[in-house]
Amino acid sequence: MIQLYIPLNFLGVIYREIKQSLTDLDKMFTLMDKEREVADAPGAQPLAGLDQPTVRFEGVVFAYDPKGGRTILQGISFEIPAGKTVAVVGPSGSGKSTLARLLFRFYDIQQGRITIAGQEIRSVTQASVRQAIGIVPQDTVLFNDTVAYNIAYGRPGASQDEIESAARAARIHDFIASAPKGYATTVGERGLKLSGGEKQRVAIARTLLKNPPILIFDEATSALDSANERAIQAELQGVAQNKTTLVIAHRLSTVVDAHEILVMDTGRIIERGTHAQLLALGGRYASMWSLQQEGPPESPAAPSP
Ligand code: ADP
Ligand code: MG
Repeated sequence: MIQLYIPLNFLGVIYREIKQSLTDLDKMFTLMDKEREVADAPGAQPLAGLDQPTVRFEGVVFAYDPKGGRTILQGISFEIPAGKTVAVVGPSGSGKSTLARLLFRFYDIQQGRITIAGQEIRSVTQASVRQAIGIVPQDTVLFNDTVAYNIAYGRPGASQDEIESAARAARIHDFIASAPKGYATTVGERGLKLSGGEKQRVAIARTLLKNPPILIFDEATSALDSANERAIQAELQGVAQNKTTLVIAHRLSTVVDAHEILVMDTGRIIERGTHAQLLALGGRYASMWSLQQEGPPESPAAPSP
């Protein structure tokens, strides 16, 4: 029995090791599958003209399952002029994050065109598209590696100084510095456990370091408390200056200054305009705005419009 017990115990340890690696492999395969879903066109060239990276969606129709699945986006058109910010608001499930995934070319669309600097993203290399875009997603998946690695992933070869200054800007430096091994601390199940907000800040640091011409913030600060949120919001607004930015926001206070605001519902844009125009319209956006002014529990103190 003892002889049996020891190997079993041993197996338990090995099993945990394997399971841990599988978790990571799983994530890798998920990422790789996404890569496989889209392929470079024969002879595809890298994206060019990134000094003026205007983003356009033209009549975009999309279903996750192209073979008769539910159509998620039903003809979406908008433009983010180079260096401007366009914000997207709307109820959960309306297709906001899908816009972000399509711009990053996780999937190809069924109808319409998505262009960056006039080039259809389907016709250029996907690596160059992803290189040009920084995403702070809703749910950040971190690698089972050091904090430094996770931040530098945005720009392999970054110096420790660069990593630290990105972490400072994302307000995660003090937290990292207080961990036993600092930036060499491993994150994940067997290392430093990060809350949703902390993971998001690592993702923000990663994006700051990558410093790409196009940014996507997908409800980027939704996992943070309001004091931290406002601080990071200010930081993100600084980062977004002169970058082509798509902001998907829950809190309308973050979209007031956008070049254009798109209000989505079930895969369509139902209202669009500047903050002032949408308030004057007195429609969906205006009622969302007045609801948030009343201060539901999740809402921070109302900013002046
Ligand atoms: P939002 O970000 O506005 O909450 P999403 O863009 O995430 O909405 O989702 C829009 C719709 O697409 C939802 O109905 C959602 O269930 C569906 N959806 C999202 N991701 C997938 C997926 N990978 N496969 C199939 N359907 C999906
Ligand atoms: Mg979403």
